[in-house]
Parts: sequence; structure tokens; C-alpha cells
Amino acid sequence: MPAEIRVFRCLSDNIGALIHDPATGACAALDAPEEAPIIKALEETGWTLSEIIVTHRHADHVQAIEPLKRRTGCRVVAPEKARGQMPVADAYVREGDTVRVGELAAHVWETPGHCADHVTYWFAADRALFAGDTIFTLGCGRVMESTHAQMWNSLTRLAALPDDASVYSGHDYVIANGKFALAADPDNAALKARMAEAEKAKGEGRFLIPSTIGEEKATNPFLRAGEPALARSVKMEGAERVAVFQALREWKNRF
Ligand SMILES: [Zn+2]
Repeated sequence: MPAEIRVFRCLSDNIGALIHDPATGACAALDAPEEAPIIKALEETGWTLSEIIVTHRHADHVQAIEPLKRRTGCRVVAPEKARGQMPVADAYVREGDTVRVGELAAHVWETPGHCADHVTYWFAADRALFAGDTIFTLGCGRVMESTHAQMWNSLTRLAALPDDASVYSGHDYVIANGKFALAADPDNAALKARMAEAEKAKGEGRFLIPSTIGEEKATNPFLRAGEPALARSVKMEGAERVAVFQALREWKNRF
């Protein structure tokens, strides 16, 4: 049976997500930014939390694990590379592992860049990618402790997924990302349309998550670092894609 997925806001700009397997009743939270909105989403859906699946060790993604574990007895799955900082987990995963939520299954991909321990969960049968702080709608995570080349590899790997794959990111930075995207890629008609859609969604109290791989490939300046228009905007025509990506990411840091 197909997965059921619910997304909701946590903290100021984090996005919480629940994925539920209707066949078995299993339900996982993707990261645990804040206890109250996760409990509220569980109450509204009637789902019972069975696991928390962690993308990376940053506090705004893990700080509600302990209270949720105490309250529900759920199991916690975390990246192997965060083992030292996350003794609370019951299982640790690495590249090539499979995480199961009832009969749902996610491939674990190590996607370093934002941080060294970052993993991304790809529920292939449900075409759902939980990208944490790797890809955002119209943006990508800051490169904090890996190299730009590692982040670029992670992004290009995710961009190779099917166009209709849903991308669930860990934050709603859509409007700020869109402003930068328009500065970097001003002649992109698909981007202009998407930004208008984002503004409309914001006005209605919605946000553009999930996105899709196809939409991101058409409008996200970081996934488009190989396009001549993006190379031009950082005055690096003819440069390697990864160098253009780095220049774009550094520009965004100052933007
Ligand atoms: Zn983070």
C-alpha cells in the first residue's frame, strides 16, 4: 500500500514530516525538531509513532528525540557517522542500508556537504525523498563541514532521481531562496512562475514542500550550476560545474 505522508511546521522554519504505512500502522517521524507539533500531527492523523529517522545531528533536527522516545517508546535510527554525538539512537545506518517503516522501505544514501554525517532517505516505491538540509525548495544547505565538491556530488546524485520524485526538505526557506535564485538566474521563466506560486502559497499559509526533482532541476540555481546562465551570473563561463556551484553557494552566504 502507498505511504501516507504529512508535513508541518516546527520551530520557526523547520519542517516536520511523518510517513505512515497503512498496511501495518508503522509511522516514522523524519527528524525531531520540536515535540509539540509532532504530537499534534500524530493526534490529528491518529497515527502512532514507531520510529524517528534522523538525517543529521544538528540540534534543530534532533532536540525532540528524547522527550518523544520517553513518551512513545519509539525506536531511533541515526547516521552511523553521528554515533558519537547521538548515543540515544537504537540503530545506526550508513550508505547502502535499508530502513523499514512497516512494509515501507528507504534506501540510505550518505549525502555529505551540509555536514559530514548527513544521510538522505529515498523511499523508492513511494517516490519520496527525505533530503534534510541537503536540497531545499529553490536552494541547498550551507556547506558547513564537508567540501563543496562533496556537496555538489550529493546534489547531483539526488538530481538524478526521477523527475516526479517528491523532495521533502528540512526547512522552509522558499521565499528567501527564491529571491537569491532570481538574482542568480534572472531570465528563467520557470523560476519566475515558481516564485509567484511560492508568494501565493505564503499568502495562504502554505509552503512549497514537497517539491519535485523535476521542479528543482528547472528552477533551483544550485542544481543548475552546470547551465551557462548560472556560470555567467558568477562570471565563470567555461569553468567546472563544481567551481560554479561553489561560487553560487558563497554568493548565497553573503546575499
Ligand atoms: Zn542542519
